[in-house]
Amino acid sequence: MPLYDYECRKCSHVFEVFLKTSEEDETLTCPECQAEKPKRLVSGFRTNAWSQFLDTMEKRVNPQKFK
Ligand SMILES: [Zn+2]
Repeated sequence: MPLYDYECRKCSHVFEVFLKTSEEDETLTCPECQAEKPKRLVSGFRTNAWSQFLDTMEKRVNPQKFK
C-alpha cells in the first residue's frame, strides 16, 4: 500500500496514512484536531534514507508487524 504524508490545514500537524485508493483521502481527518480534508504533501518529501531509518526504528519497536 502506498504511504502518504498529509498536513492538517487547521493545525499544521503532519501525519502519515496508508491508502488503498486515492478516493479514501476524501474522508481523512486530522488525528490532532479532527479537521477534515488535510493537504497531501508532495511525494519525495521524505528521502529514502529517512524512510529506512523509520522502518528500522519501527522494527525495533514492533517487530511482529514485519514478519
Ligand atoms: Zn489538525
